[in-house]
Amino acid sequence: MEKCTFCIQRSREGQLPACAEACPTGARVFGNLLDPKSEIRYVLANKKVFRLKEDLGTEPKFWYFMD
Ligand code: SF4
Repeated sequence: MEKCTFCIQRSREGQLPACAEACPTGARVFGNLLDPKSEIRYVLANKKVFRLKEDLGTEPKFWYFMD
């Protein structure tokens, strides 16, 4: 078993993580939080989002979103 690495070997080369690239419905969005024009920033600003166990204060960079 291996923990998700956000496919660092791919993202370092400007590629999407394999699961984001393979998903036919766009259920996964990956991007640069520091880029205000990125799709992930759009999702965070415009969709209903939540993180698991937010009360622990660990600030995970993984959100669930819904329309
Ligand atoms: S394919 Fe997706 S779940 Fe698997 S390591 Fe890459 S980003 Fe993580």
